[in-house]
Amino acid sequence: MVGARRPETRWVTRLIPFLLAGCVGFSTYVFVKRICIDFYLNTQGQSGTATGLLIVYFLFLFLMLITYFRVFLVIQFNPGVVPLGPLAVEQRAREKEERKKRGRCSTLCRGSHQDDLEGNRYEGYWPDPNVDSPGLERFYSKDIFVCHTDGRPRWCTSCCNWKQDRTSHCSEINRCVKKMDHYCPWVGGIVGETSYKFFVQFTFYTAAYCGVVIIVAAICLKSLNQNGLGVDGSVIGALALASFFGVFTFTMTATGVRYICVNLTNVDYLKSKTLVHQLAIRVPRGTPASLDYGVITYPLPKPNTPDSTPPSSDQTIPRETPSPRDLLATRTFAIVRTEKGENPWDLGHYRNWKSVMGNNIFDWFLPFSPSPCESFENNESFYEMGPLVQELRKRFNLPEIPMSEKGGVQMGRVNGR
Ligand SMILES: [Zn+2]
Repeated sequence: MVGARRPETRWVTRLIPFLLAGCVGFSTYVFVKRICIDFYLNTQGQSGTATGLLIVYFLFLFLMLITYFRVFLVIQFNPGVVPLGPLAVEQRAREKEERKKRGRCSTLCRGSHQDDLEGNRYEGYWPDPNVDSPGLERFYSKDIFVCHTDGRPRWCTSCCNWKQDRTSHCSEINRCVKKMDHYCPWVGGIVGETSYKFFVQFTFYTAAYCGVVIIVAAICLKSLNQNGLGVDGSVIGALALASFFGVFTFTMTATGVRYICVNLTNVDYLKSKTLVHQLAIRVPRGTPASLDYGVITYPLPKPNTPDSTPPSSDQTIPRETPSPRDLLATRTFAIVRTEKGENPWDLGHYRNWKSVMGNNIFDWFLPFSPSPCESFENNESFYEMGPLVQELRKRFNLPEIPMSEKGGVQMGRVNGR
């Protein structure tokens, strides 16, 4: 389990399920007892109406609850966090140990530890200078990945690890999360790749459940008034609660559906108009840099000075002369930038939708199968790429990879490197 770092957030996250349970309990009491039994059954004598309303109510309550438990459990046990790098594991274990030792400090002392946590970044390790850095090969064995200006993958200074495409660091839980959307105390934690589908289903069914309560409570109040039976305060209370949560979850659902259709997360969307993606796109081995793009060749050559700085360009760092076998195992990438607002993962609305919600209508409405994008991974990229990649190849005149380099290249270190 990955919890929030700030105590106040942890407590809010723990208390909210009880608040929600209270609201649902109250609404159920009002709907079943005051509306269906007292009003429709006992006062109006409409047993059929009361039964029908109860079936509809419990159907949506059930759907809301199973989607809630699904999203809650996924967030607790499979939040889609990226593993920490070895340095971060070591550093965090040390910090945990120190916190244990100082467990009986004064409040003042605890305050200073909190400051330590907030500033928990290991700036000295940015990025790993080791050309054989663990995890690096996973990137350059693809044909395309998101990179820095020097062609290496993005690096998280807090997790001390390479950042896979579409991964963002969540300061609330201090971990990198795949397709991070937002931290949501209502569902117990960070919403991201593994939970987004269930989160949207939950907000959808909650909005629908609230819609049922709003309509039935409003009709009941109107009938009570018309029959001169006065006003039932509890029905008004349920109506107010359902209206509040109904508007809230309807807006969340509409926003979530919109993000899914354009293949963006909340984090992406906030900067989608100005965001420029920098991509390393594979080109034929040995392709030289041009005026339009730089190049990088992997595996990164080892500098021949024992204590050298990370490589920053192919020309400036002295290095060992690679053997012919090493050369055959290399991959060259052009480093290109998209225009502002372009989304390399945009597959079109319908395919974007299916990549998150599933391939058939049952998957769209039932919270069982995980999102297909979660298990997508092929030799080309971490996530399915849209037509923009071909457009970029044309825009930058990137040469095609010859057949001799496709598929048959042995990746990885050779000659013991
Ligand atoms: Zn991180």
